[in-house]
Amino acid sequence: MILGGTAEAAELARTAAARFGDVLQVTTSLAGRTERPGPLAGHVRIGGFGGASGLAAYLTEHGIGRLIDATHPFAARISAAARLACEQANVPRLVLRRPPWHRDPLDRWIEVDCVSDAAAIVGRAGRRAWLTVGASEIASFSAATAVHYLVRLVDPPRRRLPLQSYEVIVGRGPFSLPEERNQIESNEIDVLVCKASGGAATEAKIIAARERGLPVIMVRRPPAEPGEAVDTVEAALAWLAGSSCLVEAMRVS
Ligand code: NAP
Repeated sequence: MILGGTAEAAELARTAAARFGDVLQVTTSLAGRTERPGPLAGHVRIGGFGGASGLAAYLTEHGIGRLIDATHPFAARISAAARLACEQANVPRLVLRRPPWHRDPLDRWIEVDCVSDAAAIVGRAGRRAWLTVGASEIASFSAATAVHYLVRLVDPPRRRLPLQSYEVIVGRGPFSLPEERNQIESNEIDVLVCKASGGAATEAKIIAARERGLPVIMVRRPPAEPGEAVDTVEAALAWLAGSSCLVEAMRVS
């Protein structure tokens, strides 16, 4: 089973099904946050498990042989639950964690520990902020009323956002460098606020901000869960290929 909700998880499901489909059943688990998740190869289940014990029960009940935690680096609760559940159910676990972005000497990052710390300083960094922190974190910025926000979301909001002055753009990565340059220029952005998510799909905004010399309020990643980890889909496939039950099944087939 793949814990998903990321482009890497979707790519892993696609390539694992293509490579081992005859001998391996791939299930991707989604939290159900986005209204229109992209297409996924294999089985898909949606919704929380009810904490680590619920996930452990699911693993046992469904005979899950291996778990790959390919969730977003900021999805700390599900990753902690996955570690505990796999220990409890005795299921081998791998973390597929996208590589972080590397800071260029020209970058003007202001690193903070959490989104509310970003909100506390955004008004000092600029007047027109581009927020790419996810829908569930927008409310943190409601007190920073001197700032106009450009908010990028995956789904159109169902109700007014708790911000005094804002516009919404809806989009799902990957985003190109020309697209991101255009967002900054046409919206007269003077500060970018984002999570240190890493990976190539959303890196163009960081490059575009660097080119313009803009400050970037960068929320640091939460601490990673301990355990075996890789940072590419190919390495995760190699881990799967090395599993004893898969080796045996491939030998028989
Ligand atoms: P989170 O805070 O770590 O998890 C909150 C709860 O949501 C978990 O306790 C679990 O509920 C449920 N959950 C999370 N991921 C799940 C999954 N893949 N399958 C089943 N249940 C899941 O997670 P989050 O930050 O809200 O992120 C939710 C999902 O969005 C993740 O799949 C993540 O990969 C994706 N995502 C997150 C971000 C981000 O910035 N946080 C960005 C892009 C994508 P129970 O306790 O009931 O099991």
